Amino acid sequence: MPDIRGYKIATLGSHTALQILKGAKDEGFSTICVCEKNNSRPYESYGVADQIIKIDSFKNYFDIEQELIDQNAIIIPHGSFVAYIGAKKVMDIKAMHYGTKGILEWESDRKMERKWLIDAGVRCPKIFNNPDEIDRPVIVKFHGARGGKGYFLANSPQEFYQRYNEYDGGEGKSFVIQEYIVGVPIYSHYFYSRLTGELEVMGFDKRYESNADSIGRVAAKDQVDVGIRTTYTITGNVPIVLRESLLPGIFNLGEKVVESSKNLVDKGLFGPFCLEGVIDPDLHYYVFEISARIVAGTNPYIHGSPYTWLRYDEPMSTGRRIARDIKMAIEQNKLEKVLG
Ligand code: AMP
Ligand code: AMP
Repeated sequence: MPDIRGYKIATLGSHTALQILKGAKDEGFSTICVCEKNNSRPYESYGVADQIIKIDSFKNYFDIEQELIDQNAIIIPHGSFVAYIGAKKVMDIKAMHYGTKGILEWESDRKMERKWLIDAGVRCPKIFNNPDEIDRPVIVKFHGARGGKGYFLANSPQEFYQRYNEYDGGEGKSFVIQEYIVGVPIYSHYFYSRLTGELEVMGFDKRYESNADSIGRVAAKDQVDVGIRTTYTITGNVPIVLRESLLPGIFNLGEKVVESSKNLVDKGLFGPFCLEGVIDPDLHYYVFEISARIVAGTNPYIHGSPYTWLRYDEPMSTGRRIARDIKMAIEQNKLEKVLG
């Protein structure tokens, strides 16, 4: 039987690297963490990396890629890959790469992402192409607005123009006007294996965003008087357990997204992914984003989530589930099935 000792698991030291590397070690792999030289401390302290390769900046990833190739390393992509290397450049990765690279382009472009979700039959917030048609609360998202800093809400065309003119959007002020869904944010974590052909629901989270998640601590009058503007800078994640009767719908949504991804890229979407949206009081789940790779919302579950505990009688993080998929693939001589 082919042996996993001929391979290593590697990733960039940020985002979900701790659980990816810990999960890989739990499955018996040797691990490599590529760190920015001033940020290696956690990866040393938690002992998840057998080897640390230091670089000045993640942007310089390609300078050390040959070292990974020489060691037969399999790269696990996460949020920092697209954020620092870029979806287009990710396509140039020559080292073995877990998951379909092409799908990362679909998730990182708002128009392509929406087309995918709509084609899959997923309920998405309405988009207003013309501000004059605004007839309900909307969220205006400027492209490239990191951490949702430039977003604003409006309720009518007049309010839109007033806020738009006040706002220095930069980047040519290109934006999208999305229906604002009043409800609770729910981020659903999935795993789809091409080896077992099965979709698993791994868990749920909501984000902990600054300052959106603390504005409720200030009286509405003070918010207006002091001129507080809402921002959505991600700082952490909060675990969630979903009302059980919503689960059948969650499975169904994930299956539709996987199925329709097969029309987008060769091999389609597989491995971990996440649907990000809001559930309204009528229990409609509006999805406004998909992440086609591991999300940081799985980080609270390094020891497994309530859902993975039901299925696996051992701690099963999403990071470990990835390593198990790779291990199965190697042992069954089907590695090419999980690389892309
Ligand atoms: P970082 O390496 O922390 O700069 O993160 C890379 C990308 O992943 C950024 O675009 C972040 O917005 C996103 N990200 C990082 N951490 C989290 C988190 N805990 N939850 C959701 N998104 C995150
Ligand atoms: P995003 O940059 O798209 O991840 O959104 C930043 C924040 O705005 C997240 O906390 C979302 O929950 C919230 N958000 C984004 N789009 C909508 C929407 N259409 N309705 C309600 N909340 C939204």
